[in-house]
Amino acid sequence: MVKIHKFVSCDPDLCTGCTVCEYACSLEKDGVFNPIRSRIRALRVYPSGNLAIACRMCEDAPCVIACPRDALQQSEEDGHIIVDEDKCNGCGWCVEACDFGAITVGPDKIAIVCDLCDGEPKCIDVCPVEALSLQSRETKARKSRISATAARILADAASEADK
Ligand code: SF4
Ligand code: SF4
Repeated sequence: MVKIHKFVSCDPDLCTGCTVCEYACSLEKDGVFNPIRSRIRALRVYPSGNLAIACRMCEDAPCVIACPRDALQQSEEDGHIIVDEDKCNGCGWCVEACDFGAITVGPDKIAIVCDLCDGEPKCIDVCPVEALSLQSRETKARKSRISATAARILADAASEADK
């Protein structure tokens, strides 16, 4: 049976780009307040909005395939990417392979990526506006389709009203 992987997903309508999730992640994972060490990235793109991005737990993860040193593996349990720190040399091929910009190389030249905090994501706990949640790709796609349809219906209704 195919397991449905969940990942930390951000609602751009709620996210303020405050970066609290970045600081919480670096503290939780590495014991430091340093966003460079965060496994989640808070993006502030003016004027389009804010969004925090973490690993999508892709099936057949491109980062795992791209690594020339076999330093990355994917957990069969929840799909998170496991980094073998003895093998990783920080070449960055995984960074290039990720479509989401969700894996980075830290200051010590080792890849860093979300591990879901053993099922209790700290970033979700601390987000002051509850913009983060665990979602599956299927749920996220369904919600996006519903939002797009609702936006189209509203736009059509507005244009009819203007006639
Ligand atoms: S803590 Fe929440 S609101 Fe702040 S940047 Fe992260 S996701 Fe966005
Ligand atoms: S789930 Fe944990 S490791 Fe993943 S981004 Fe959130 S705090 Fe970081």
